[in-house]
Amino acid sequence: MGNCCCHEKQPRRHPLQKNIGHNSGVDGKLAHILETNPRSHVDIIRTRPTPTRTNVPRCNKIVVALYNYMARDVSDVSFKKGDRMEVLDDSDGDWWTVTHLLSKETGLIPGNFVAKEQSVESEDWFFEEVSRKEADKLLLAAENPRGTFLVRPSEHNPQGYSLSVKDWEEMREYHVKHYKIKPLDNGGFYISTNKTFLTLTELVQAYSKNAFGLCHVLSKPCPKPQPQMWDLGPGVRDNWEIPRIQIKLVKKLGRGNFGEVYYGKWKDLTVAVKTLREGTMSTAAFLQEAAIMKKLRHKQLVALYAVCSKEEPIYIVQEYMCKGSLLDFLRKDEGRTLGFEDLIYIAFQVASGMEYLESKQLIHRDLAARNVLIGENMMAKICDFGLARVIEDNEYCPKQGSRFPVKWTAPEAIVYGRFSIKSDVWSYGILLMELFTFGQVPYPGMHGREVIEQVEKGYRMPKPTSHQLPDDIYKTMISCWDGKPENRPTFEFLTHYFEGFNVTSEIPYREVPD
Ligand code: AMP
Repeated sequence: MGNCCCHEKQPRRHPLQKNIGHNSGVDGKLAHILETNPRSHVDIIRTRPTPTRTNVPRCNKIVVALYNYMARDVSDVSFKKGDRMEVLDDSDGDWWTVTHLLSKETGLIPGNFVAKEQSVESEDWFFEEVSRKEADKLLLAAENPRGTFLVRPSEHNPQGYSLSVKDWEEMREYHVKHYKIKPLDNGGFYISTNKTFLTLTELVQAYSKNAFGLCHVLSKPCPKPQPQMWDLGPGVRDNWEIPRIQIKLVKKLGRGNFGEVYYGKWKDLTVAVKTLREGTMSTAAFLQEAAIMKKLRHKQLVALYAVCSKEEPIYIVQEYMCKGSLLDFLRKDEGRTLGFEDLIYIAFQVASGMEYLESKQLIHRDLAARNVLIGENMMAKICDFGLARVIEDNEYCPKQGSRFPVKWTAPEAIVYGRFSIKSDVWSYGILLMELFTFGQVPYPGMHGREVIEQVEKGYRMPKPTSHQLPDDIYKTMISCWDGKPENRPTFEFLTHYFEGFNVTSEIPYREVPD
C-alpha cells in the first residue's frame, strides 16, 4: 500500500452498471471463477487491505463532504457536510485516507461521501448515480415544492446530462419533466440552442433565475439520499465476523424461513439481524455462501454487512429496509394505494437486481415477493440470494418439504432439481403476479400438489379479472412461465422491458369495481 493514485473520476458507465461496486476487477474475477468452479472462489478472492496511515505520499486533492459522517471505529474520521479534507490515498475504492483540514485528524473516510472541491459532483443538485425512474421517485417526494430539480448523467448520451424538474399540472397533479442537456463541441452545454453555457453550474444558475421555457424556474436542489454503505466500517470490512456482543437486538420484525429477524444496532448504526434457527444449515456451508453474498454489490441487492457465526444461532447482519417485505407492504395501507407507475418501478428494480445475479451466473432459488424488501422512496432490494442453496432443513426440500415454495418454483426445478437462472425467471413471473394483484397468493384456491399437476399439463394462472393489468405485462408473465426454460426471457430483457415501459398511457391502477 502507500501508493497514491488519486484517480480522477472513472469514465462513466451505463447507470445500470454503476452500483456494481468499485471492485469491478474482483467482480469480474468472481464471475469467471464461478463459471469454472462454483465453490472455489471463496479462497481465491482477496479483499484489498485497509490502507495504513503512515508513509502515505500526499496528492493534494481537496475534497468536500456531501453528507455528515460519524466515525465508527478508531481508524476513521468524522465529518460534517461541507467540511474540506485533503486526500492522501484514494487507491482503495471504498475507504480513502484523508486529513481533515479543520480538525487535522488523519484517517479513513467513505470515498462516496465526498467529491472533489469545486467539481460538478460536489454540487447539491448533481446526482451521479440515478436513473430517470429514480429521479422521478426522489423528486415526487411530498416535501419537495414545484421546481425542485436535479441534474444527472444521461442514460443514453454518454457526453450529455438530463435536467429533471418537478412540475404540476392540474389533471395529472405532480409529475416530473426531463430535459436533455446537450454538450457543445467546445465543451459547453445547452438545453435550447439559443442559450449556451460554459459549465453545468452556469446553466443551473441561469435557469434558477428565469425559466426560459422550462416548465418552472429551478427552485431548490432535490435532497440527496445517503449513499449505500457496503460494510459497517473500515475495521469490519475485511473481518466481517464480528463479536455477538456488539449487536443489540432491539425489536423483532418478523419470522422468516430461517428464523427470527430483528431491528438492531451495531454501535449507532441501524441494522437488520437475521437469526438462523439451529439446524437450518451447516455453519461451514453458510459461511461459504455468505462469502459470495458479501462480494455482491448492486443497489437492488440487500447488503450483507457482517456475521456472528461462532455460536448458534448464527446472526446475519444486513442493511435495514424500513418498509419490510414487499409482500407485507403490498397488502397494507401504503402498498394498496400504489399507482401503476410504482408497480412498474418495483418490477424494474427486481429485474435489475436479478440481471446482476444473472451476469454473475448466480441463482437465487427462492425469488418471491416475501424475499424482496422495500425501503425509502420505493427502493426495492432482493434478499436471501444464495441462502436457499445451503438449507439443510427437510421441510425445504422439493419432494417432501411443507416449506418448499412450490407455487414459485419452475416445474423442471421441482421435478428434476434443475435450478437455473431460467427457473428464477419463472419465479419472477410469479412475483409479477403477486405485485400486480397486491400480494394475492398465487394460484388462489389451489394446493401445491394440484399446482404441480396442472402446471405440468400446461395450466397457467389467468389474467386477473379483478385488476386492470395491461395485456402486454400479462404476456410477459406468460413468457416467464414457458415450459422450455430456454424460451423464457433473460433478466437483461426484463430489466429493459420494465425500464422502458410506457406509462404515459397510464390508467389508474386499482381494483375494478364490481
Ligand atoms: P425473512 O426471514 O427474510 O423471510 O424475513 C422475515 C421478515 O423480517 C420479513 O418479512 C421482513 O418484514 C423482515 N425483514 C427481513 N429482513 C429485513 C431487513 N433487511 N430489513 C427490514 N426488515 C427485514
